[in-house]
Amino acid sequence: MKFKMFSVVVGSPACIAKCPFCVSCETPDKDNLKNYEINWRNLEIAGNLANRSNIDTVMITSRGEPLLFPEQISEYLKHLKEFKIPFIELQTNGILIMKDKEKYDKYLREWYRNGLTTITISVVSHKYELNKKNYMQDKADYIDLPELIKYLHELKFCVRLTCVCCKDMMDTSLKVAEFIKFAKDNKVEQVTLRPVNDEYRRDSAHFWILRNKLTEENKQDIRSYLENNGTKLLDLERIGTIYDVDGQNVLLSLPLTKYTRDTNPENLRNLIFFPDGHIRYEWEMEGGILL
Ligand code: SF4
Repeated sequence: MKFKMFSVVVGSPACIAKCPFCVSCETPDKDNLKNYEINWRNLEIAGNLANRSNIDTVMITSRGEPLLFPEQISEYLKHLKEFKIPFIELQTNGILIMKDKEKYDKYLREWYRNGLTTITISVVSHKYELNKKNYMQDKADYIDLPELIKYLHELKFCVRLTCVCCKDMMDTSLKVAEFIKFAKDNKVEQVTLRPVNDEYRRDSAHFWILRNKLTEENKQDIRSYLENNGTKLLDLERIGTIYDVDGQNVLLSLPLTKYTRDTNPENLRNLIFFPDGHIRYEWEMEGGILL
């Protein structure tokens, strides 16, 4: 069995944001913020499988916001050392880092020392108002994104902006060009453009997505822009295409759907470790389980 990516799942579906397209999006409460024991024995099995697949990147991710569980991230990093995977990434909306800098500064420095290489910040745009509307539902302030990027760079992290592309937020080549310029101006190392995924969503998200997903014309417009203005660097099978656009690294990502599934066990996309010890190769299909 061979995999392309290794994901380890932190925490619970709790998140301080409320994106309308989110799979889980639970308000934090005493039940979903509980800390629990991670099945380290099975992490070792998953890590060995990742090594057998020559995986070079592990993504620390969550059904909600991983930063709500900083102690778990610290523990994961200590255990992941054993597998010597070169790139260790953390996916976050970044909001807590800026809203509680005192608390997270200590963790970020520790995580850097323990091998975390990349912080992947989820956004829907480079524009404050659009991120505020999407993440905070306009009920609270959003963060100063350039400040967050600068701060993470000062801590020596590599920064990736992952933009979930939706209608009226990131749906044209013009907006993509502005986003890429923002990334370049802020010295962001990597950009990912991910059209919002319209499969496997909770009902309320599903209806929002049907109204707000990119059309085929939007996607074609963006792809043509990258083809015409960038240099194709890498074609990553069932993951996407990486371009250099005026010196900015840009991945146009393919969604995780049935169309990007390969049933050949030597070419599986994702090896996913869940804290209870379950190891899966599908995020949403309950049957895609190894342990
Ligand atoms: S930031 Fe992520 S986990 Fe939180 S609501 Fe948005 S999509 Fe869901």
